[in-house]
Amino acid sequence: MIPYGRQTISEDDIQAVAKVLRSDWLTQGPSVEQFEDAIAARCGATYAVAVSSGTAALHVAALATGLGPGRRLWTTPNTFVASANCALYCGASVDFVDVDARDGNISIAALTQKLEEAEANNQLPDVLIPVDFAGKPCDYHAINALKEKYGFVVIEDASHALGAEHQGNKIGCGRFADITVLSFHPVKIVTTGEGGMLLTNSAEFAERMRRFRTSGITRDGALAGKDAKGGWDYFQIDLGFNYRLSDIHAALGLSQLTRLNHFVEKRNDIADRYDRAFTDLPVRPMNRREGDLCAYHLYVIRVAAHRRKALYDHLHAMDIRAQVHYIPVHTQPYFENLGFQWGDFPEAENHYHEALSLPMYPAMTDGELDQVISEITQFDFSR
Ligand SMILES: *Cc1c(COP(=O)(O)O)cnc(C)c1O
Repeated sequence: MIPYGRQTISEDDIQAVAKVLRSDWLTQGPSVEQFEDAIAARCGATYAVAVSSGTAALHVAALATGLGPGRRLWTTPNTFVASANCALYCGASVDFVDVDARDGNISIAALTQKLEEAEANNQLPDVLIPVDFAGKPCDYHAINALKEKYGFVVIEDASHALGAEHQGNKIGCGRFADITVLSFHPVKIVTTGEGGMLLTNSAEFAERMRRFRTSGITRDGALAGKDAKGGWDYFQIDLGFNYRLSDIHAALGLSQLTRLNHFVEKRNDIADRYDRAFTDLPVRPMNRREGDLCAYHLYVIRVAAHRRKALYDHLHAMDIRAQVHYIPVHTQPYFENLGFQWGDFPEAENHYHEALSLPMYPAMTDGELDQVISEITQFDFSR
């Protein structure tokens, strides 16, 4: 079976985890701190805060920006549901901005228009979550120009994009977003099993995110407006959560991180080979890099909508587990119950009808890649 994505675990990764199991710390401890420092250094961010998943990271980021009832968050429909759910966890409202057909990222034209309308109706968003779909950075130059004009906070969902570069800078460096969110789910660029990370250059956001990660607790009496009574003191000043990452997970991430460059190179090599193989086929590869470095979490093609299911079924019959990214979030039953419906975001829906994610992972062999390419080359697109 050839999956659409999978982890790459080395003997060093296994040893790193075993070492933690023999140590004094299992949950958040020295390995988490080392992992945070290593990610911050790699991405060029001032602060990194590790949490238990990408979903938890989005929740904590939204809380840190002050999102709550009466506030508004916008994201795109072409993403995993977590990018939208974080607004609802906070009691805020969520809305979507349609995508650009070329790369599946947020459409700057649609965003510009929606912001103009929202300003006229006094409904401007407090937070925008652009998603670097498949690992290709969004147009942050344009997004930040709009941010300057309208004053929203940018939380970048870079769950697909660890290791990507935009305009010569690393994703997560703090130039593109106020907070950048990473996920370490096994199919992502680097894994901890489950895990997530928040990157920011704001000391204030970092402090709040650390507190929301740990039940809203601080040891700093001054922050709570209380006098310290003893070494045992702690003060809960926010309604936080237990979103800690364990040292077991962090040790895996730290070991994986040493191979990040290799992972991204391998993913780009595979993308190059797919791109070349499809030049004369009715298959449109997305997320070409155009000067940026794409992390290629996914390799997404678009094919004629009426042949997409047949191609998917054919590949599955050959034990090649292609996937579809994404079912537009606004069409999920939960979001339909909130009043969204098919037709609301046509480009995201067109994308959904035509998209297929082909197998893409660093340990993919030449033989596996040849097999996928050969099945697609032989597939009858004309019917
Ligand atoms: C994977 C993913 C998430 C959620 O990450 P988890 O670690 O699985 O909670 C959020 N957004 C996007 C775009 C993702 O791909």
